[in-house]
Amino acid sequence: MVHQLISAEECAECKGCCFFGKNDAWEIPSAVTVNGDEYSAGLLYCDQLGHNGCLLGGNKPIECAMFPFRVMRLGEQTVIALARYCKPVMQLPLNRVARFASDKAEAFLALARKNPEIVKEYNREYIVLMVVQEG
Ligand code: SF4
Repeated sequence: MVHQLISAEECAECKGCCFFGKNDAWEIPSAVTVNGDEYSAGLLYCDQLGHNGCLLGGNKPIECAMFPFRVMRLGEQTVIALARYCKPVMQLPLNRVARFASDKAEAFLALARKNPEIVKEYNREYIVLMVVQEG
């Protein structure tokens, strides 16, 4: 999905959503396993991460396919939020990214209803783009 905003090459060069620090282990997609041996170096790498990006191609877990967007709980609200650390997307005009998220909002919400485990508590590393559900 993100390739509608940035190229596959930009995505593969960054790989920022495919490794995790100790403080963002909460972000590890539920369907993903990580290489625990790497934790001593400060980072956990997804087992599916190859030199040229994700080895799963179009069969990525839902959270990866949605990235850098997430459905999050913020108090009583459900929001669509954008990961600040997705460098290639953060270089785009925010209004363009927000419009894209708005176009996809219904699809994101449907995925979240079907897969409630992908909905995480809001984290300040994310920018709230829109509220999709109140209460
Ligand atoms: S499954 Fe693929 S896209 Fe998802 S974290 Fe692993 S390498 Fe990255």
